[in-house]
Amino acid sequence: METFVYALPLRDRFRGIGVREGMLVKGDAGWGEWSPFWDYDRPEIDAWWAAAREAAFEGFPDPVRESVPVNATVPAVDPQRAHDIVKASGCRTAKVKVAEPGQQPFEDLERLDAVRDSLGPDGRIRVDANGAWTVDEAVARLRLMRGFELEYAEQPCASVEELAALRVKLAGLGIDVPIAADESIRRADDPERVAKAEAADVAVLKVQPLGGVRRCLELAERLGLPVVVSSALESSIGIRMGLALAAALPELPYACGLNTVALLAGDVVGEPLVAEGGEIKLRGVEPSDAGTWRADELTSARWQARAWFDTP
Ligand SMILES: [Mg+2]
Repeated sequence: METFVYALPLRDRFRGIGVREGMLVKGDAGWGEWSPFWDYDRPEIDAWWAAAREAAFEGFPDPVRESVPVNATVPAVDPQRAHDIVKASGCRTAKVKVAEPGQQPFEDLERLDAVRDSLGPDGRIRVDANGAWTVDEAVARLRLMRGFELEYAEQPCASVEELAALRVKLAGLGIDVPIAADESIRRADDPERVAKAEAADVAVLKVQPLGGVRRCLELAERLGLPVVVSSALESSIGIRMGLALAAALPELPYACGLNTVALLAGDVVGEPLVAEGGEIKLRGVEPSDAGTWRADELTSARWQARAWFDTP
C-alpha cells in the first residue's frame, strides 16, 4: 500500500481551517482518500479509514447514472465573494453557510441576497447552520429567510429532539422549510434515530465519516429519506468516493454537495472533479505527477504517525 500526504490551501477559510490536509492511499482497486479533520480522533476516524480502504482495495458499486447534479458551496464570506463563488460555479443550486460564530444574523441575509441575485429567481438556495441555533432562534431566523424560498435548512439545531420540535413548530406557523440532518446522522451513535423521531425531511450522507459507499447505501435504505451526498471538503480523490455513492443511489432528487474542490486553491489531480454546467461527470481520477499538492515533511510525518492502520 502506497500513501501520499497532500496539503492544499483554501480560497476562503471554511470550517475554521485555511489549509486542507489528507492522505491518499493506493490499493489494488485504485485510489482512496483518508482525511479526517484534526479535531477528530479514534474511534470516529476508523470509519474514515473504512471508506478509504473500500475505495483503494474493493472499488465502487455499479453506478446507475453517469453524472451527478451538484450545488455551489458558499462559506461565511462577504456578499460580493458569495455572488462570485456562485457565478463561477455555473450551478443552479447553492448551499449557503449561515450562523457562523462571530457574525451577525443580518450578514446571513446579505449573503443570501447576493446568492439569490447571482442565481436568479429560479435557482435553488439551501442553508447550513451546523447546529448553531436553538429551536426558537431557528424559527426566528428561518422566518426572516422566508423570502428566499429555501430548498431546505441543514442541521439548524444540534440535537435530534430539537430538530423534531422545530419541524412541528414550523408546520404550526406555516413556515414551509424542509429540514435536513447532517451532523445528527454522521456523528451519532444511532443515525437512524433521525428517521424514527421524524426529525428530518432529508438525509445528508458523507462517505468518509459514515464508513464507505456501501455502508451509506445500506443506511440510505434504512433511513427511507431522500438523500443528499456531500463532501468532507476532500481533494478530487475523496470527491470521487462521494460521486460513487451519488451515482449508485436508486434515487437522487437533490443536487449534491460535491463541488467543494472549487473551494480549494489547488488539487491533487490534473483535471479536478468540479462542476461543468451544474453537474460532475463520473470518471476515474489519479493524482498528478506534478507534486505541487504534496505536504512538507513535517505534515507528512504527522499523518504517518496518525495512521495506525494495517494494510489489507
Ligand atoms: Mg452540513
